[in-house]
Amino acid sequence: MIIDMHTHCFPDRIAAKAVAGLSTAAGGIEPHTDGTLGGLASFMHAQGVDRFAVLNIATNEHQMRAVNDFAAEMNERDDVIAFGSVYPRAKNALDELDRIKALGLKGVKFHFDYQGVAVDDELMRPIYRRIAELGLIIMIHAGFDFGFAPPYMAMPDMIARALRRVDSPFIASHWGGLSCAEGVLDKLCGLPQLYIDTSFGYGAIARPTAAKIIEKHGVDRILFGSDCPWHSPAQELRLLGSLGLSESETSAICSGNAAALLSMITELKA
Ligand SMILES: [Zn+2]
Repeated sequence: MIIDMHTHCFPDRIAAKAVAGLSTAAGGIEPHTDGTLGGLASFMHAQGVDRFAVLNIATNEHQMRAVNDFAAEMNERDDVIAFGSVYPRAKNALDELDRIKALGLKGVKFHFDYQGVAVDDELMRPIYRRIAELGLIIMIHAGFDFGFAPPYMAMPDMIARALRRVDSPFIASHWGGLSCAEGVLDKLCGLPQLYIDTSFGYGAIARPTAAKIIEKHGVDRILFGSDCPWHSPAQELRLLGSLGLSESETSAICSGNAAALLSMITELKA
Protein backbone atom coordinates (compact mmCIF):
# COMPACT_ATOMS: atom_id res chain seq x y z
CA MET A 1 0.00 0.00 0.00
CA ILE A 2 1.34 3.43 -0.96
CA ILE A 3 -0.18 6.80 -0.06
CA ASP A 4 1.34 9.76 -1.90
CA MET A 5 0.69 12.83 0.26
CA HIS A 6 1.81 15.43 -2.29
CA THR A 7 0.42 15.70 -5.83
CA HIS A 8 -1.16 18.36 -8.01
CA CYS A 9 -3.73 18.58 -10.78
CA PHE A 10 -6.01 21.22 -12.25
CA PRO A 11 -9.51 21.49 -13.68
CA ASP A 12 -9.53 19.95 -17.17
CA ARG A 13 -10.17 23.19 -19.06
CA ILE A 14 -7.08 24.96 -17.61
CA ALA A 15 -4.78 21.96 -17.00
CA ALA A 16 -2.61 22.24 -20.12
CA LYS A 17 -2.03 25.96 -19.66
CA ALA A 18 -1.41 25.66 -15.90
CA VAL A 19 1.17 22.89 -16.28
CA ALA A 20 2.95 24.68 -19.14
CA GLY A 21 3.11 27.94 -17.16
CA LEU A 22 4.35 26.33 -13.94
CA SER A 23 6.89 24.25 -15.84
CA THR A 24 8.39 27.32 -17.51
CA ALA A 25 8.34 29.29 -14.23
CA ALA A 26 10.30 26.50 -12.52
CA GLY A 27 13.03 26.42 -15.16
CA GLY A 28 11.45 24.15 -17.75
CA ILE A 29 10.92 21.12 -15.53
CA GLU A 30 9.25 18.31 -17.48
CA PRO A 31 5.83 17.23 -16.16
CA HIS A 32 4.94 13.55 -15.76
CA THR A 33 1.20 14.09 -16.46
CA ASP A 34 -1.05 16.31 -18.58
CA GLY A 35 -2.13 18.13 -15.40
CA THR A 36 -5.66 16.69 -15.30
CA LEU A 37 -7.13 14.56 -12.51
CA GLY A 38 -7.62 11.70 -14.99
CA GLY A 39 -3.98 11.92 -16.06
CA LEU A 40 -2.78 12.06 -12.46
CA ALA A 41 -4.92 9.12 -11.33
CA SER A 42 -3.80 6.84 -14.13
CA PHE A 43 -0.14 7.77 -13.57
CA MET A 44 -0.47 7.18 -9.80
CA HIS A 45 -2.03 3.76 -10.26
CA ALA A 46 0.54 2.79 -12.91
CA GLN A 47 3.25 3.68 -10.36
CA GLY A 48 1.66 1.53 -7.65
CA VAL A 49 0.12 4.36 -5.59
CA ASP A 50 -3.21 3.47 -3.96
CA ARG A 51 -4.28 6.88 -2.64
CA PHE A 52 -2.96 10.37 -3.24
CA ALA A 53 -3.38 13.80 -1.69
CA VAL A 54 -4.15 16.53 -4.22
CA LEU A 55 -2.99 19.99 -3.17
CA ASN A 56 -4.53 23.16 -4.53
CA ILE A 57 -3.70 26.80 -3.87
CA ALA A 58 -5.90 29.88 -3.93
CA THR A 59 -3.60 32.69 -5.06
CA ASN A 60 -6.25 35.36 -4.55
CA GLU A 61 -9.48 35.95 -2.68
CA HIS A 62 -11.73 35.38 -5.69
CA GLN A 63 -10.32 31.93 -6.48
CA MET A 64 -11.01 30.42 -3.06
CA ARG A 65 -14.52 29.17 -3.63
CA ALA A 66 -13.79 27.57 -7.00
CA VAL A 67 -10.56 25.98 -5.73
CA ASN A 68 -12.36 24.41 -2.77
CA ASP A 69 -15.34 23.30 -4.85
CA PHE A 70 -12.89 21.57 -7.22
CA ALA A 71 -11.22 19.91 -4.21
CA ALA A 72 -14.59 18.71 -2.88
CA GLU A 73 -15.52 17.30 -6.28
CA MET A 74 -12.22 15.38 -6.51
CA ASN A 75 -12.59 14.19 -2.94
CA GLU A 76 -15.61 12.09 -3.92
CA ARG A 77 -13.17 9.58 -5.40
CA ASP A 78 -11.98 6.90 -2.96
CA ASP A 79 -8.37 7.27 -4.12
CA VAL A 80 -8.17 11.06 -3.60
CA ILE A 81 -7.45 13.00 -0.41
CA ALA A 82 -8.04 16.58 -1.55
CA PHE A 83 -6.81 19.56 0.46
CA GLY A 84 -8.55 22.94 0.39
CA SER A 85 -6.97 26.38 0.34
CA VAL A 86 -7.62 29.81 1.77
CA TYR A 87 -6.03 33.06 0.70
CA PRO A 88 -4.73 34.48 4.00
CA ARG A 89 -5.61 38.10 3.19
CA ALA A 90 -9.19 37.30 2.15
CA LYS A 91 -11.84 39.03 4.28
CA ASN A 92 -13.77 35.77 4.48
CA ALA A 93 -10.78 33.45 5.09
CA LEU A 94 -12.20 32.14 8.38
CA ASP A 95 -15.65 31.51 6.85
CA GLU A 96 -14.01 29.65 3.99
CA LEU A 97 -12.20 27.43 6.53
CA ASP A 98 -15.63 26.54 7.95
CA ARG A 99 -16.79 25.72 4.43
CA ILE A 100 -13.69 23.55 3.81
CA LYS A 101 -14.62 21.55 6.90
CA ALA A 102 -18.28 21.31 5.82
CA LEU A 103 -17.20 20.08 2.39
CA GLY A 104 -15.48 17.16 4.11
CA LEU A 105 -11.89 18.08 3.22
CA LYS A 106 -9.13 16.91 5.58
CA GLY A 107 -6.73 19.80 5.40
CA VAL A 108 -5.59 23.13 4.04
CA LYS A 109 -2.55 23.78 1.87
CA PHE A 110 -0.62 27.04 1.96
CA HIS A 111 2.00 28.14 -0.51
CA PHE A 112 3.11 31.39 1.07
CA ASP A 113 5.33 32.46 -1.84
CA TYR A 114 2.28 32.47 -4.12
CA GLN A 115 0.13 34.01 -1.41
CA GLY A 116 2.48 36.85 -0.44
CA VAL A 117 2.38 36.23 3.32
CA ALA A 118 5.07 34.78 5.60
CA VAL A 119 4.33 31.52 7.44
CA ASP A 120 4.94 33.27 10.78
CA ASP A 121 3.05 36.50 9.96
CA GLU A 122 0.68 37.80 12.67
CA LEU A 123 -2.06 37.61 10.05
CA MET A 124 -1.88 33.81 10.25
CA ARG A 125 -2.66 33.63 13.97
CA PRO A 126 -6.51 33.53 13.74
CA ILE A 127 -6.29 31.27 10.69
CA TYR A 128 -4.14 28.71 12.50
CA ARG A 129 -6.46 28.93 15.51
CA ARG A 130 -9.58 28.24 13.41
CA ILE A 131 -7.86 25.33 11.64
CA ALA A 132 -7.07 23.77 15.02
CA GLU A 133 -10.69 24.27 16.21
CA LEU A 134 -11.98 22.58 13.06
CA GLY A 135 -9.57 19.65 13.36
CA LEU A 136 -7.91 20.09 9.98
CA ILE A 137 -4.34 19.34 8.83
CA ILE A 138 -2.04 22.17 7.70
CA MET A 139 0.22 21.45 4.74
CA ILE A 140 2.71 24.02 3.49
CA HIS A 141 5.23 24.43 0.74
CA ALA A 142 8.49 24.78 2.69
CA GLY A 143 11.86 26.21 1.72
CA PHE A 144 12.99 27.47 -1.69
CA ASP A 145 10.66 27.54 -4.66
CA PHE A 146 12.37 27.38 -8.04
CA GLY A 147 9.67 29.60 -9.53
CA PHE A 148 10.52 32.55 -7.25
CA ALA A 149 13.56 34.60 -6.32
CA PRO A 150 14.39 34.85 -2.60
CA PRO A 151 13.45 35.87 0.04
CA TYR A 152 11.21 32.84 0.61
CA MET A 153 8.18 32.93 2.87
CA ALA A 154 8.55 29.62 4.74
CA MET A 155 12.17 28.96 5.68
CA PRO A 156 12.98 26.66 8.64
CA ASP A 157 13.49 29.39 11.27
CA MET A 158 10.18 31.01 10.23
CA ILE A 159 8.36 27.66 10.34
CA ALA A 160 9.74 26.99 13.82
CA ARG A 161 8.40 30.38 14.96
CA ALA A 162 4.99 29.74 13.36
CA LEU A 163 4.74 26.32 15.00
CA ARG A 164 4.65 27.94 18.45
CA ARG A 165 1.14 29.11 17.49
CA VAL A 166 -0.05 25.96 15.78
CA ASP A 167 -2.04 23.20 17.49
CA SER A 168 -2.75 21.09 14.39
CA PRO A 169 -0.75 18.47 12.57
CA PHE A 170 1.50 20.56 10.32
CA ILE A 171 3.18 19.06 7.25
CA ALA A 172 6.28 20.85 5.94
CA SER A 173 6.78 19.51 2.43
CA HIS A 174 10.00 18.82 0.50
CA TRP A 175 11.92 17.22 3.39
CA GLY A 176 10.90 20.08 5.65
CA GLY A 177 12.24 22.75 3.31
CA LEU A 178 13.43 22.54 -0.29
CA SER A 179 17.18 23.25 -0.51
CA CYS A 180 17.49 24.14 3.19
CA ALA A 181 18.14 20.79 4.83
CA GLU A 182 20.70 22.22 7.28
CA GLY A 183 18.04 24.55 8.65
CA VAL A 184 15.54 21.68 8.83
CA LEU A 185 17.99 19.60 10.89
CA ASP A 186 18.86 22.55 13.08
CA LYS A 187 15.46 24.22 13.65
CA LEU A 188 12.67 21.77 12.81
CA CYS A 189 13.55 18.13 13.43
CA GLY A 190 11.86 16.86 16.57
CA LEU A 191 9.19 19.59 16.88
CA PRO A 192 6.04 17.85 18.14
CA GLN A 193 3.22 18.75 15.73
CA LEU A 194 5.45 18.63 12.67
CA TYR A 195 5.31 16.08 9.86
CA ILE A 196 7.79 16.13 6.99
CA ASP A 197 6.98 14.93 3.47
CA THR A 198 9.52 13.46 1.05
CA SER A 199 8.29 15.26 -2.07
CA PHE A 200 10.76 16.59 -4.66
CA GLY A 201 13.67 14.99 -2.81
CA TYR A 202 15.08 12.80 -5.58
CA GLY A 203 18.21 14.43 -6.99
CA ALA A 204 17.60 17.48 -4.76
CA ILE A 205 18.65 16.31 -1.28
CA ALA A 206 21.91 14.62 -0.33
CA ARG A 207 21.38 11.00 0.68
CA PRO A 208 23.15 11.28 4.09
CA THR A 209 21.11 14.42 4.83
CA ALA A 210 17.80 12.66 4.09
CA ALA A 211 18.84 9.79 6.35
CA LYS A 212 19.80 12.24 9.11
CA ILE A 213 16.42 14.05 8.89
CA ILE A 214 14.54 10.75 9.28
CA GLU A 215 16.72 9.73 12.21
CA LYS A 216 16.47 13.08 14.00
CA HIS A 217 12.76 13.76 13.36
CA GLY A 218 11.58 10.19 13.89
CA VAL A 219 10.45 7.74 11.23
CA ASP A 220 6.82 7.88 12.42
CA ARG A 221 6.37 11.47 11.27
CA ILE A 222 7.81 11.19 7.77
CA LEU A 223 5.19 10.99 4.99
CA PHE A 224 5.77 9.73 1.48
CA GLY A 225 5.07 12.33 -1.21
CA SER A 226 6.24 12.83 -4.79
CA ASP A 227 5.18 16.33 -5.95
CA CYS A 228 3.75 14.77 -9.11
CA PRO A 229 3.55 16.00 -11.89
CA TRP A 230 7.01 17.49 -11.20
CA HIS A 231 8.54 14.32 -9.74
CA SER A 232 7.24 10.76 -9.94
CA PRO A 233 6.49 8.38 -7.06
CA ALA A 234 9.04 5.95 -8.57
CA GLN A 235 11.79 8.56 -8.26
CA GLU A 236 11.03 9.25 -4.60
CA LEU A 237 10.79 5.50 -3.88
CA ARG A 238 14.28 5.10 -5.37
CA LEU A 239 15.60 7.76 -2.99
CA LEU A 240 13.90 6.09 0.00
CA GLY A 241 15.21 2.72 -1.16
CA SER A 242 18.77 4.04 -1.02
CA LEU A 243 18.58 5.10 2.64
CA GLY A 244 19.05 1.70 4.30
CA LEU A 245 15.61 1.73 5.95
CA SER A 246 14.05 -1.49 7.27
CA GLU A 247 10.93 -2.90 5.65
CA SER A 248 8.74 -1.71 8.51
CA GLU A 249 10.24 1.79 8.42
CA THR A 250 9.66 1.98 4.68
CA SER A 251 6.07 0.85 5.04
CA ALA A 252 5.44 3.40 7.83
CA ILE A 253 6.73 6.20 5.59
CA CYS A 254 4.93 4.97 2.46
CA SER A 255 1.49 4.53 4.01
CA GLY A 256 1.26 3.72 7.73
CA ASN A 257 2.06 7.21 9.03
CA ALA A 258 -0.33 8.92 6.58
CA ALA A 259 -3.11 6.43 7.36
CA ALA A 260 -2.66 7.06 11.10
CA LEU A 261 -2.69 10.84 10.59
CA LEU A 262 -5.79 10.73 8.38
CA SER A 263 -7.70 8.49 10.75
CA MET A 264 -6.76 10.71 13.71
CA ILE A 265 -8.22 13.68 11.81
CA THR A 266 -11.36 11.72 10.91
CA GLU A 267 -11.92 10.81 14.56
CA LEU A 268 -11.48 14.47 15.58
CA LYS A 269 -14.14 15.38 13.04
CA ALA A 270 -16.69 12.91 14.38
ZN1 LIG B 1 4.05 20.58 -4.71
